[in-house]
Amino acid sequence: MLLEGKTAIVTGANRGLGKAVSRKLAQEGAKVIMAGRKKDDLDKAAAELRGEGLSAEPFVADVTKESDVSALAGYAAEKYGKIDILVNNAGISKEIKLAEISMETWDEIIEVNLRSVVLMTKAVLPYMTEKKSGNIVNIGSGAALRGLPGSCAYSASKAAVVCLTQALGDEVREHNIRCNVVCPGPVDTELFQKSERREFILAAGGDVFEPETVANGVLYLASDMSKGVSSQVLTIRGFNRW
Ligand code: NDP
Repeated sequence: MLLEGKTAIVTGANRGLGKAVSRKLAQEGAKVIMAGRKKDDLDKAAAELRGEGLSAEPFVADVTKESDVSALAGYAAEKYGKIDILVNNAGISKEIKLAEISMETWDEIIEVNLRSVVLMTKAVLPYMTEKKSGNIVNIGSGAALRGLPGSCAYSASKAAVVCLTQALGDEVREHNIRCNVVCPGPVDTELFQKSERREFILAAGGDVFEPETVANGVLYLASDMSKGVSSQVLTIRGFNRW
């Protein structure tokens, strides 16, 4: 049990990668708060994990809303006395060429994929700093390292998450807080299966990963298995350009 006694918040946890990460951390002994927008889906996902004997509870929060995010951090800190791990996983993808994207859609993608990471991290950092201990794992993307055509906003938002992680990791080092980012290639979730870029990515020779494989990478970074590792990018890709 790598995470016995730890408290973790996972955002976008009602399905896909967020659910797989929640399960993985809970299987290693963490008490997991699964955050997301849709109460019914979230309740169902948390109940599924509890049915497996794991510690998982739902918390309804839209990560783009400052009041929701601070309520989530406050709840976790009050209930468990600390927040050990934050996984910024919530994200959206809308595949539209730059020439065709409206600024409204551009802003929406940046807000969910980048600004929410900032909001969530700022809400949790005071609790981690106080305890002089913490671990933040952000979910980037292969598209952060090599922009995906037809997906400029998504690629740019994830590239910003990578640089944010590197700079923040250095800033919080003195507080014994680690911050790293996982950049997966295609993962077999709703986001990828419904992607307008799916065939394009597959045609370019994209290996598709199980959510659990990516969750293993998150566990590595969130646990003492990676003690001392900070400001780093963990790619989880095979023969992938993106
Ligand atoms: P899914 O679309 O399956 O899941 C995304 C999750 O994010 C959902 O739970 C969704 O909840 C939640 N979410 C979206 N917006 C918000 C919000 N404003 N507040 C709270 N929760 C929100 O995608 P994946 O599981 O595939 O994606 C997880 C992460 O992995 C994302 O950051 C994605 O960019 C990244 N990623 C995915 C890849 C892939 O191929 N699948 C590849 C590389 C990176 P709701 O039901 O409310 O929409």
